[in-house]
Amino acid sequence: MAPDRKADRFPCPGCSADMEFDPQTGGMKCPFCGQTQALAQPAGGITSHALDEFLNHAGAPALRPLSEQALQVTCSACGSAVTFEPPEVAGSCPFCGDALVAQPKAADPLIAPDAVLPARIAKPQAQAEVRAWLQTRWFAPGALKRLARQEAISGVYLPFWDYDADTTSQYSGQRGEHYWETETYEETDSNGNTSTQTRQVMRTAWYPAAGVVSRRFENVLAPASRSVGESKLNALEPWGLDALCAYDPAYLAGFKAQRYQVELAEGFEKATQAMRRTIEQDVRRDIGGDEQSVDSIQTGYANAMFRHLLLPVWIGAYRFQGKVYQVAVNARTGEVQGERPYSTGKIALLVFVLAAMIALLILVGSHR
Ligand SMILES: [Zn+2]
Ligand SMILES: [Zn+2]
Repeated sequence: MAPDRKADRFPCPGCSADMEFDPQTGGMKCPFCGQTQALAQPAGGITSHALDEFLNHAGAPALRPLSEQALQVTCSACGSAVTFEPPEVAGSCPFCGDALVAQPKAADPLIAPDAVLPARIAKPQAQAEVRAWLQTRWFAPGALKRLARQEAISGVYLPFWDYDADTTSQYSGQRGEHYWETETYEETDSNGNTSTQTRQVMRTAWYPAAGVVSRRFENVLAPASRSVGESKLNALEPWGLDALCAYDPAYLAGFKAQRYQVELAEGFEKATQAMRRTIEQDVRRDIGGDEQSVDSIQTGYANAMFRHLLLPVWIGAYRFQGKVYQVAVNARTGEVQGERPYSTGKIALLVFVLAAMIALLILVGSHR
């Protein structure tokens, strides 16, 4: 029996409770009677969209909510909009730990996700990964250790923009070629005798260079969340985008999703910054020689396509001395990234113990 897609609800065929997405099987599972149901991938695969059509308003697509019954609540503390599927409740904000007190409303329409990377790591395993990560962090305060023990991490799908583009870049610069020159100099030895010596010195001759390089880029990711630091998101890579599935609201059952905070055009701007770094390497290779100096690069982008992706993390936030700290787990690989404060109490204790040991050693030494 296929799930009831009209209302985007996923009633259990056994007991008609709401089924949830199960990371371990990659299908739906009933939390009450344990019945499982496979998720079929739609034929045709993942859709990409022409960026031009979306950026000029004439061709702008109809925006849609994440699903028919998705609810959305905005955190009054950090401003993140969190979307979830009933019967899931808002609870606390996964990004800053504050209680989500606002009344949830129907999710705002958005550029619908094209693909989702289904979570593969279940909550107990994610908690075990956080605990293992903490074990190497002796100075972590108790609040962080509680986070790993309690139910304080949530499964969240974070939004990303994913771009493809053909680029053609015209450049101008200079090619530096090394050559050696013989230089004479005076040397005075220890007896005060001066003699003329020669040595080889490397010089660079510069020649103008100009040309065209082209490259096709695929799957250039730009995070569309501002709630998790970009360096942390980058450190969670690789995601393994080969396993992307065409978007189906069923993947969100039992998880939260974040609405994108970076718009499509801004995301593309970020992606082109990443492309530019690669293009500059191409230009330097094209210039050749021993050294290169790049004056200008003009890049044209053609056939730019994009996809809106949802990538899975387990994330928890806690407050320590007025500051918010996050721990995030890549829900595909188990990679943990987080910041943690040092517990000043534990450091003070360690310093005291070390000082006492040194005092003891001095005392023992003086009695020998
Ligand atoms: Zn059931
Ligand atoms: Zn928040």
